[in-house]
Amino acid sequence: MNKHLYKPLIWALLFCIIFSVPTLATPTVTLDGKQMSFDVPAIIENNTTLVPLRAIFESLGATVEWNDQTQTVTAIKTGTQIKLTLGQATAYKNGSPVSLAVPAKSINNRTMVPLRFVSEALGAQVNWDGYTQTITILSVPTPGSTMPPSGITTVHFIDVGQADAIYIDLPGNDDILIDGGNVADSTTVVNYLKAHGVDTLELLIATHPHEDHIGGLPSVLETFKVNEIVDSGMTATTNIYSRYTADAKAEGCTWVADNRQTFTWGNVALQILTGPETWQDVNDYSVVTRLDCGNIEFLFDGDAEAPAEAALQGDISAEILKVGHHGSTSSSSYSFLSRVMPQVAIVSVGTGNTYGHPAAGTLTKLQATGSKIYRTDLNGNIVVTTDGNTYTVVTDKTLPVPAVPVITPAPTTPAQSTGVYVGSIKSDKYHYPSCRYAQAILSGNQIWFASEAEALAAGYGPCGVCKP
Ligand SMILES: [Zn+2]
Ligand SMILES: [Zn+2]
Repeated sequence: MNKHLYKPLIWALLFCIIFSVPTLATPTVTLDGKQMSFDVPAIIENNTTLVPLRAIFESLGATVEWNDQTQTVTAIKTGTQIKLTLGQATAYKNGSPVSLAVPAKSINNRTMVPLRFVSEALGAQVNWDGYTQTITILSVPTPGSTMPPSGITTVHFIDVGQADAIYIDLPGNDDILIDGGNVADSTTVVNYLKAHGVDTLELLIATHPHEDHIGGLPSVLETFKVNEIVDSGMTATTNIYSRYTADAKAEGCTWVADNRQTFTWGNVALQILTGPETWQDVNDYSVVTRLDCGNIEFLFDGDAEAPAEAALQGDISAEILKVGHHGSTSSSSYSFLSRVMPQVAIVSVGTGNTYGHPAAGTLTKLQATGSKIYRTDLNGNIVVTTDGNTYTVVTDKTLPVPAVPVITPAPTTPAQSTGVYVGSIKSDKYHYPSCRYAQAILSGNQIWFASEAEALAAGYGPCGVCKP
């Protein structure tokens, strides 16, 4: 080789080595304490660790399918489906888009996928130690886990009127309380917990500093030992908030703000879905949590309203939903409910409250998702018990609860408002009175039919939604 060409080539080679160092860094990855080995080493790019696809998915118990034509990988672990496409910055978890800082890519003919996204989507916890360049993965049971908890979990929606207080009795002797009702409910809440043998609360969650949520907490803190408190980090200038903070301080326990922590007790996990976001409305600061007991999930929405609901990330599907903000119109948006798809919706609400909670529109939306509605104003205490595979709902009062409010006939048209089906004089469809379209017909426009034949004879056809 020409002597003059030789030197610049060496320099070029050195230059390449020096400036490609960031992509050559090889972090150590451990899963449940065991170091993982990869045939193509893990790399770090833009603070994202990429690892070979099959190795990570299969060690986390997922099955993997690769579609060569679309360059897409689909991984399935009971209850969770993940889709990643080579070179695309949007991945999908159970159909919901998730943006990736670094997309999946092909390196040395191996598909490399972002480690943290994959692990967390499959319910594992991921920690990064920058000093030792080590990534620690713990495959704790979170959404998607099929491991049934070893025991029974009971969730009590305590009837505290126009307020929230939820007691969770976990297998073993672990107890959680989410909110404590109004100040006036202090005795009710304390006695309820005592009656269920509570000595220590392993975790106390104060969703946000409104009185109907923290009012009873000073008495709870004064009566029971509390091991850890998580709240919204939002403060208030009220007397009840001062009492709550004084008692929380006096408890001397761990007291932190919500920051997407995950707590686990045996095979039960409680995920905090909210963190340090800032909002205009205090209600939106509500700590939102998802309790995962095997195949049964609960979502506790506090008083979170539509903006906070829309900001919730990841899988929020749940069999049982504690409806946000006492069933107000400001919560339970269609897009939120379509992600949760509850089978049971629980509204914590007071008889004859001045807010008009729960709103008729919210009940209609809940019914449209196919969920059964329970309300503390009508049902009293509502207790859901699960073994991780099935659940039962038991209430104090077993009065039949109308899923949607019964339409009161307008006084001017009493003779019209009877019948089996209802239509509108402005359309040609007839409905069951419980149909959401029937609910929207103004009483002055209603036309009632005693039978299908009568409706058909009048030129009306069956609604495609309620299928009368
Ligand atoms: Zn409230
Ligand atoms: Zn509130």
